[in-house]
Amino acid sequence: MHTKQQIYQELKNSDFPNLQFLYSKEVLDIAQEVLEELLEKEKKDFEEKLLIDDSDISFETFDDVSDLSYFYSLLEHYQGVNNDETIREIIEKFEPKYVAFGNEIAYSRRYYDMIVYCLKNTKLDTEQTRILELSKESYEVRWIALDSDIQKELKDINLQLSELWQNFSNNVLDSQKLFEYIVTDENIISEMPEDDKKVAQKKAKDKSIDGYLFDASAGSYVAIMKYCSDFGVRKEFFEARNSFAIAEPHDNKKTILDILSLRQQKAKLLEFENYAELSLHFKMADTPSQVMDLFSDIVEKSRQKAASEITEIQDFFWLESISPWDMSYYARKLRQEKYDLDDRELKKYFELEAVTKGMFEIVERLYGLKIQEVKTTSYDEDVVLYEVSRDGKFLSYFLTDYFHRPLKRQWAWANMLREKSDDTIAERKKIVVNVANFQKSADGKTLLTLSDVETMFHEFGHATHEMMSTSSHSELSGFHVEWDFVELPSQLLENWCRHPDGLDLFARHIDTGEQIPRPMIQKLQELETFGTGSMIIKQNEYAMLDMLLHTDTIPTDSDELDTKVHENYDANSIFPRGDIYNPHTSFSHIFDGGYAAGYYSYMWAEIIEKQVWSTFLDDGDIFSPEISKRLHDTILSQWTTKKASELFRDFSGGEVQIDAFLEEKGIAK
Ligand SMILES: [Zn+2]
Repeated sequence: MHTKQQIYQELKNSDFPNLQFLYSKEVLDIAQEVLEELLEKEKKDFEEKLLIDDSDISFETFDDVSDLSYFYSLLEHYQGVNNDETIREIIEKFEPKYVAFGNEIAYSRRYYDMIVYCLKNTKLDTEQTRILELSKESYEVRWIALDSDIQKELKDINLQLSELWQNFSNNVLDSQKLFEYIVTDENIISEMPEDDKKVAQKKAKDKSIDGYLFDASAGSYVAIMKYCSDFGVRKEFFEARNSFAIAEPHDNKKTILDILSLRQQKAKLLEFENYAELSLHFKMADTPSQVMDLFSDIVEKSRQKAASEITEIQDFFWLESISPWDMSYYARKLRQEKYDLDDRELKKYFELEAVTKGMFEIVERLYGLKIQEVKTTSYDEDVVLYEVSRDGKFLSYFLTDYFHRPLKRQWAWANMLREKSDDTIAERKKIVVNVANFQKSADGKTLLTLSDVETMFHEFGHATHEMMSTSSHSELSGFHVEWDFVELPSQLLENWCRHPDGLDLFARHIDTGEQIPRPMIQKLQELETFGTGSMIIKQNEYAMLDMLLHTDTIPTDSDELDTKVHENYDANSIFPRGDIYNPHTSFSHIFDGGYAAGYYSYMWAEIIEKQVWSTFLDDGDIFSPEISKRLHDTILSQWTTKKASELFRDFSGGEVQIDAFLEEKGIAK
């Protein structure tokens, strides 16, 4: 059979796909052509759809089964785990066309009218209604009710904003490129892990320099701040980090002013008070003031702990004062010297296979998920495939790709390769993946650090959330859930890998098979509240800066902008502000990423997650059948069939509260 035909046939296969084939050279060679063909077909289908008579409109008109999005997500996955020239070129070439088609749908008046018609005139079940209500709303909030000249203005603003984000990001990168620091005195980095030193040494060697080269990368920054014993060098790095993109030719202050004012205009056109109100319209939190009130309550209560953490460090190391650039270094040393937890010893209790088994057992006990390995040949020998079922019924495929490879993205993530859907022929089975970058050991048994184990549980929390969604519509499952809610299931599951009753299931010494010793568990628990006060203060400072910039009047010039940033720091931090302090000019999360008026989501997700976790703790049984069933029924199986705030209320019976969060962080209420 012709390769192209084979691809189309494989895409129709509702069972697990032949990835070895789909990622083969012969397929990748014509992938671009296939994508274009599929896109043309979808475009044609869409145009035809727009022409149908109103009386023929039914829910099925908005059917979401798409070979294109399926094939594309398979290719995107491959790029994530094997980012070579070939696949990168395919994605980069196709992406803009795909986005443009998405916009065509998002800005189609006729399509919107069809949705409205369907809602009014056809019989729909609850899920169908919810799906159409959601799309109707996304049109309405974004543009549909506006006069045509305002629509034009809005499109223009969006265009300008996307250019400015690009600008912001380029300014940060270009200005960071100029920063280098050469260390020749080995003594000042003697505490640094060998890996970090090797990286720095190689960077120096590549430029024919003797010594170690540290640059503006996050890796270099963390290595210096945590391990460099020279106060002056740490200060220099801290100040450099606060000086990126502050002046011509890479001036981001001007860019920020433009972004803020355009966002403000956009919010006003859409009849929101400010940009934060617009951003929160799509999130679980109700209003900016709800977030800010909750956070300031937390911060007030955390101040004392943060202060005592600083005193603890000062007393232990006989320091007269401590600056922002000292915190990471001494906190790391204190952790090592006072709590004396040997990470290498701890690792011996976390063997990958045993951890995996324990993790599966945990979700079986909680939610009745049965997970069994399926033999398959995949795109890499370390990829493992599982079949997940519940009450004897197939739920989802689960694919793990855990080991580091040079061409893989250097972080961990959860994703969907295919969403469940009822096709005309057969039900397409769900495929969920977890990817990580664990270091594989040479002799077969891989040992994980505690943070690796947490990563595994975190991503598996996302994966199981996805597996358990009961809806067969991708709009109500997938990762379509409020931004400040999506981390609840993932962060929640992490708790089981730190709790003694969870550890009991999988933490066994690699050589002796013995359970993890109690004193070690105790140390782990003590460390959980270590440094939490200062962390909260820092997180809050960023969240407040983000909210302030997106709720308050827009500064008119750079000086006014700086003043705002500095006032925010002075009001929220516990350290005196140094001479050089410009976190905003490289705050990519909010000026070039999706976190504008949403940075709070990090701490917010932890607050709601701890509230859920505390229900188990209060019960005394972290496997409580009654609570896990309630959690499954009200949140995990529901995805976005209701608003996140409603789902949360269904589980907790009330509103978001900070008590459990404070307790877990060791902060007096
Ligand atoms: Zn996550």
